[in-house]
Amino acid sequence: MAPSLSDNRTLHILNAAAAGKYGVLAAIAYNIEQLTAIVRAAEAKRSPLIIQLFPSTLKQLPTLAHAAAAAVNSATIPLSLHIDHAQDEAHIREMMETLPVDSIMVDMSHFDQAENLEKTRILAKECHERGIAVEAESGRINGGEDGIADTGDLEALFTAPSDVEDFINASIDILAPSIGNIHGDYGPSGPAQGQLHFDRLESINKQINDRVQIALHGTNDFPPQVMQRCIRSGAIKLNVNKLILEVWNVFLRENASKMGIVGLIDEGMNVLQKETERWMDICGSSGKA
Ligand SMILES: [Zn+2]
Repeated sequence: MAPSLSDNRTLHILNAAAAGKYGVLAAIAYNIEQLTAIVRAAEAKRSPLIIQLFPSTLKQLPTLAHAAAAAVNSATIPLSLHIDHAQDEAHIREMMETLPVDSIMVDMSHFDQAENLEKTRILAKECHERGIAVEAESGRINGGEDGIADTGDLEALFTAPSDVEDFINASIDILAPSIGNIHGDYGPSGPAQGQLHFDRLESINKQINDRVQIALHGTNDFPPQVMQRCIRSGAIKLNVNKLILEVWNVFLRENASKMGIVGLIDEGMNVLQKETERWMDICGSSGKA
């Protein structure tokens, strides 16, 4: 029997979070240490968690997705494996066929709107036939992340009500709206006053009316209260990268010349686990598994 979306782990996690009015971290891991630390945080906090890998990481570390899937299968809390910003159609089809993924962000935002929607619709159908859920980005979220085409030369476009309907009609499951959020750094104190359009997020959420879930991209430098405001406005899947991983980067930078490799890995994982736990508390997902 073909796998069904009703069994999809990512959607189960997000639907429960939407019903319970809390947010779930969708945390990027670049290596096995980071993967291990975020999963340990989820277990320690009894929190659901979405593990995110970039397509570039799948190529750099071909076994990491399988390690993540092993973590998903052995965890005592709800976990899922999501691929962030998949922009290459051939690579997306390869992922569908060869990797144990629960959901994929089909990011065709580098095409014009009509082509974006058409490609998204076709890929979503193929994913759904395999029980894989699909996220897409509407409008353009400016900036570049690892291995992702930078859309900074294109006009930053906010998500309009018509975009919401267009993407829902393309059969996606998760929508990443553009509400002033950017890929990259806002600066040490986070988004400037007025940079994030919470009212726009709220009206998008109302318009969606539970038909799909909302993902928030571009959370670097977010203060806790900004994250919580986004959750109250309807964001459920919270993509985090540097927001959580920066403590790991700093720890390695400061200790790489002083510690042996085993200690460095141990202590680095501890630091990252604690930081992930802190954000699970902030997002309200602790104790919800
Ligand atoms: Zn993103």
